[in-house]
Amino acid sequence: MLMIGDEANAVKDAVAQFFQQRILPNHHLWQHQASQQQTPEIEQQLRDEAKALGLWNLALPRLAADEPGTRLSNLEFTAVAEILGRLPWASRVFNSHAPDTPNMELLQLFGTAYQKEKFLRPLLEGEGGSCFSMTEPEVASSDPGNLQTTITSEGDDYVINGRKWFSSNGSLDKTFFTVLVGVSNPQASKSQRQSLIIVPLNLSGVEIERDVPVFGSVHKTNVHTQFNFSNVRVPKENLIGEEGAGFAIGQARLGPARLHHCMRAIGECEVLISLMIARSQARKTFGQRVDNYSSTKEAVALSRIEIDQVRLLVQHVAWLLDTVGNKQARKEISMIKVATFRVYQAIADRAIQIFGAAGITDDSPAAAALVRARGLRIADGPDEVHLQTIYRLEEKQQDLSDTHLYLGVNALGN
Ligand SMILES: Cc1cc2nc3c(=O)[nH]c(=O)nc-3n(C[C@H](O)[C@H](O)[C@H](O)COP(=O)(O)OP(=O)(O)OC[C@H]3O[C@@H](n4cnc5c(N)ncnc54)[C@H](O)[C@@H]3O)c2cc1C
Repeated sequence: MLMIGDEANAVKDAVAQFFQQRILPNHHLWQHQASQQQTPEIEQQLRDEAKALGLWNLALPRLAADEPGTRLSNLEFTAVAEILGRLPWASRVFNSHAPDTPNMELLQLFGTAYQKEKFLRPLLEGEGGSCFSMTEPEVASSDPGNLQTTITSEGDDYVINGRKWFSSNGSLDKTFFTVLVGVSNPQASKSQRQSLIIVPLNLSGVEIERDVPVFGSVHKTNVHTQFNFSNVRVPKENLIGEEGAGFAIGQARLGPARLHHCMRAIGECEVLISLMIARSQARKTFGQRVDNYSSTKEAVALSRIEIDQVRLLVQHVAWLLDTVGNKQARKEISMIKVATFRVYQAIADRAIQIFGAAGITDDSPAAAALVRARGLRIADGPDEVHLQTIYRLEEKQQDLSDTHLYLGVNALGN
């Protein structure tokens, strides 16, 4: 069992109570409002309540004491994030959701005083929202070296030209800026070619082309936006860090972001396991309850094994981020990114099967979970890229000097 301090335990208990008493009973109302509104009224009401209780910015590490929030360590946050993950909208109630939290962390770590006041403060207070624009429709964006959007220095400004898509939350009314990745130093080496810049979305030349339909629909509260940036003039003071440091800074943003997605997915998997049991106990076929079939028991048992495995891995990575940092934990971050969402996808699929036709409707959370899990095997880097990272680092860490001693004379190949 995860041991966390008294303060973190108190936050966890308060979040669990708030979830049970205020969020879960309002889920049906939220679903109804979310089909018509970007920010359902009930969600805003609950955000105000959570903030007043101090249950706010739970996912940010302890940095500045004067900023609003509970500020748990990554390891402490794992226990809380699971509760937040039980419903896809719960993390927003506590202002602890992507992509705002990773952007907050980025600005905390690398932002100037001006950037913190103008862009970080409204995020921390929950008054505005943000997005992140790396991926481009025209190029294979798993490889950041392919990106084509340009950031060109002209006098006191940078001029941005290019197209981006899958900027999550980009078109929401609250979203007032994006953190854009673009090529500022085309002649530099691949890892020093790009910069990150804050682009306010009300600037001339920023055009929202569309919200991309995902699995056949566009959800009002969770959109993936396609932008065109045409000669957008951005003041130089909006550059994050140094010119050419975009790749390194972007990686720093993605570590915790990946971890948080994994933690929330585990929380949702726990809900799906409960629902598999409840549903199979409630239905009968051929004279037997569905939970009597060995296939049902196996589905639940395998889900339990898999989810407990990834939870331990995720807690380990959270501890690594707290102790040795994002860079040292690169391999393990890639490991949880691959492992968790494969498990998430498998559990969502099993839940659908046990629910029968209801499993693919919006009357059960399993279908939406499957869609999210599928997306998360591509978002923040597809599985294959992470597997290559794991192999590369694994190979580097191996000492192969005595492997021949384990083998017969001809087994090494030559
Ligand atoms: C739900 C969701 C939310 C997202 N949110 C954001 C966001 O907020 N901001 C943002 O900028 N982007 C976002 N993205 C985009 C995401 O980061 C990219 O889709 C991802 O980086 C892959 O880029 P691509 O789609 O261009 O795929 P490509 O680069 O075209 O890759 C396609 C496929 O090629 C294969 N492939 C690629 N490289 C390798 C390799 N090295 N070895 C073997 N096979 C390989 C893989 O199968 C891969 O899936 C989101 C995506 C999803 C699904």
